Amino acid sequence: SRKTLTAVNPANDQVLGEHEMLDDDQLAEKLNQAREGYAEFRHLPVADRRHRLTALADLIDQHQREIAEIIAHEMGKPFHQGIDETQISSAIVRFYADNLESLLKPQPRQVEGAQKAEIVHDPMGAVLGVMPWNYPLYQVVRFAAPNLAGGNVCLLKHASNVPGCAKYITKLFHDAGFKEGTFTWLPIGSDKVEGIIHDPLVCGVTLTGSYEAGRSVAKIAGDAIKPSVLELGGIDPLIVLDDADVDKAVELAVNGRFDNTGQSCAASKRLIVERPVLERFTERLIDRVQKLTIGDPMDGDTEIAPMSRKDLRDDLHDQVQRAIQQGAQLETGGEVLDRPGAWYAPTVLTNVAPGNPAFDEELFGPVASVIVADDAEHAIELANNCRYGLGGTVVGQDVKRAEQVARRLEVGMSFVNQPTTPFAELPFGGVKESGYGREQSEYGFGAFLNVRTVYIA
Ligand code: NDP
Repeated sequence: SRKTLTAVNPANDQVLGEHEMLDDDQLAEKLNQAREGYAEFRHLPVADRRHRLTALADLIDQHQREIAEIIAHEMGKPFHQGIDETQISSAIVRFYADNLESLLKPQPRQVEGAQKAEIVHDPMGAVLGVMPWNYPLYQVVRFAAPNLAGGNVCLLKHASNVPGCAKYITKLFHDAGFKEGTFTWLPIGSDKVEGIIHDPLVCGVTLTGSYEAGRSVAKIAGDAIKPSVLELGGIDPLIVLDDADVDKAVELAVNGRFDNTGQSCAASKRLIVERPVLERFTERLIDRVQKLTIGDPMDGDTEIAPMSRKDLRDDLHDQVQRAIQQGAQLETGGEVLDRPGAWYAPTVLTNVAPGNPAFDEELFGPVASVIVADDAEHAIELANNCRYGLGGTVVGQDVKRAEQVARRLEVGMSFVNQPTTPFAELPFGGVKESGYGREQSEYGFGAFLNVRTVYIA
């Protein structure tokens, strides 16, 4: 019997559908289609690539509601947040559509002895994207748009719990003119990834997901001498300085921590608060979190929806319990909600410090951890006491001072008075164990292209 991917609605445990996985022959056939697709697509005039990208952005805009609904059903994202996801996604596609001609323009250089010397960007093959379920559209677009802009073709290995999203997204790419072979969804398990990376057609792999998955894929890519880009999450700090407007700081912290029901790589997972404002901040935070509207992902006023999977919810609960056993104080939440589905109560832990699981581990769900800092120096020290380094936010009314603090964070993205937010024009990515390489902006463009030197004597 053939293996299937099963989509389950995490709001009520209902099975949404079964999608057949590829067997080995079908996978080989898909890779051959991609080989043929690449042979053709790499020669497509740049203007045609631009038209298709523009068509894709338009299709995403036109199908916002359908996309947000599938995402809500398959991984539980509140519908209105799914609409937001479609908007950043189409913005990224449009960025590459609007800029690909200038990004691809040959760059002449004056070099000794050359009548002509220039740098050009050529495609290299198929890029494999191993993608997670938390932003099922945005993550895919983030890797696919710059590669298609540059003439590479894309192979998508999406997370096993979002096959309906993968199928719908693939149809959007196909309808925009990126046909099977140019954009190809591979409904496979992660056990097939190694063989695909070793296929001569594949020129690189990009993965967004856990540290463990990233490590495994990067090892295989290293073995195959192929480039990789890794975006592996973080335990990002949000520092509240002593001059912060406390109400505003609480609002930013709640948005930064509880958006997407806490399941974002760059969520504000450690709230590091200067002592003079600790009490007021914590009191208001607890009050605000207790008032978060827990509800069906499709309801317009829902702020907290189910987590994406029960196993991940259970892992989170285990982390919370270990955090409490090791000295964290539970202020609210901290429990599995007694109903079908993957629900977890929005939670606030205080008295969190280095050595505690809520400080040292990534809590991928609706749990805010409050950490006290003696002063701004101590806050920076605490923030940088972390194996990850994705993003970081500093909140304060003296914006210059906040900026100085933000620039000293060991992260790829420093934000002041705003939680880490993706913008098409700005690079997204981290340092330390958050991974390497950048997505979005011009920095997301060249990762898997051949930056070719051309020299004519
Ligand atoms: P995973 O990292 O396991 O999944 C992400 C993607 O990687 C999926 O497509 C998955 O496939 C694939 N994958 C997993 N293991 C391997 C492997 N060894 N080789 C190749 N591909 C692999 O995340 P989970 O869904 O299991 O979530 C676990 C934790 O990961 C979360 O709690 C969170 O901490 C972190 N995470 C971080 C994200 C981020 O944005 N940086 C996003 C999602 C999760 P499959 O689904 O088939 O297993």
